[in-house]
Amino acid sequence: MNMDQSTALFEKAKQVIPGGVNSPVRAFLSVGMTPPFIRSARGARLKDADGNEYIDYVCSWGPLILGHAREEVIDAIREAAADGTSFGAPTEREIELAELICSALPAVEMVRMVNSGTEAVMSAIRLARGFTGRKKILKFEGCYHGHSDALLVEAGSGLLTLSLSSSAGVPEEFVKHTLTVPYNDCEKLETIFEAAGAELAAVIVEPVAGNMGVVKPDSQFLRLMRRLTEKYGSVLIFDEVITGFRVSFHGAQGYYGISPDLTVLGKIIGGGMPVGAYGGRKDIMRLVAPLGPVYQAGTLSGNPVAMAAGIKTLQILKDNPAIYREIDDKAAQLEKALIDFSDKYRIPLCVNRVGSLLSAFFTDETVTDYRTAKTADTSRFATFFSTMFNQGIYIAPSQFEAMFISGAHSDADIKQTIAAIEKSFAGMQP
Ligand SMILES: *Cc1c(COP(=O)(O)O)cnc(C)c1O
Repeated sequence: MNMDQSTALFEKAKQVIPGGVNSPVRAFLSVGMTPPFIRSARGARLKDADGNEYIDYVCSWGPLILGHAREEVIDAIREAAADGTSFGAPTEREIELAELICSALPAVEMVRMVNSGTEAVMSAIRLARGFTGRKKILKFEGCYHGHSDALLVEAGSGLLTLSLSSSAGVPEEFVKHTLTVPYNDCEKLETIFEAAGAELAAVIVEPVAGNMGVVKPDSQFLRLMRRLTEKYGSVLIFDEVITGFRVSFHGAQGYYGISPDLTVLGKIIGGGMPVGAYGGRKDIMRLVAPLGPVYQAGTLSGNPVAMAAGIKTLQILKDNPAIYREIDDKAAQLEKALIDFSDKYRIPLCVNRVGSLLSAFFTDETVTDYRTAKTADTSRFATFFSTMFNQGIYIAPSQFEAMFISGAHSDADIKQTIAAIEKSFAGMQP
């Protein structure tokens, strides 16, 4: 594959942008390759600066559930932009997107728009602390909630011991109120509530983990979390930045039938434009400024162009519920192929899938949490990645990310991908 243009652009980018990228995973470091610079995309396909084409299973890391440059969405963006791109004043479109979100997620009675998932999480945590008057929060190892200081904690720090920050520049004082428990560990969850439940402002969770690769919640795990947060008066926050409008139109909360107190959204609700949102119970949301004492603001929040892209995307999903069945089915075909070929070529593999989200971990173990995810052989993944990439299949350049299927992936795309998987596995040492 000719990558001359991308290689030259990457060198140029590195002179003026740290690592040449505006978000670290894009640099392809964990697979030891040069990232393609994307010039355009349509449907399920990306085209890079050298003219190479790829079937895209990253979908901008989740937002593009309808595929790239969907005509109705682009028209909505054009129409909105033609009337002005930002006013710093309320617009009707903000109501429309808020109403769509509230009607799809009954637990969300009011919602505030922001500009990224990170910002939404940070604001939801502040709100939970304002509501409860408590300081401590609980998260789960391997869950990612954006890069705000309090959430950049090292996984594996012991129960109730001082958490360590996972990033330089985050003083330990900023994470000392953040406790962590392994994902799916009901026993430790109960223990920590017994010890510190009355001090916990919030529990935040990805109801389907998507940022250590896809990890399903145990049937009891989310339910127990709901019960304990209720008992101890802590705010339960579902971070549905990936799962919202992805695992179902009603999110993971609809899929599993559990109502959180607050919900964090992003990705799909922006239809490919930068958006985040947080919402939930009215009695909690009424504490947000200007109604209440919890401050939160944003110059470009509720941006009309972003609202237009989000509204159109959610409307299309709402009017075409069959999309979910189709993308889940396509993901199931990939899952089956991965499992079948891993048997045939004796490649240790654990495939986790929830709806149209899936991950293939190169390990013998069943992946249920961060520890088991980490048993995956990342050098084997790098081999898999490069053989797929060289066959024009673009998956996330890391073992610990999800594959995203969109409504634009055709049966032929899936077939081509399955053939590429077989070729990749056939070339691997068992
Ligand atoms: C992507 C993501 C975020 C952060 O969103 P940004 O828009 O990248 O800031 C937060 N939580 C989860 C679960 C995510 O997947």
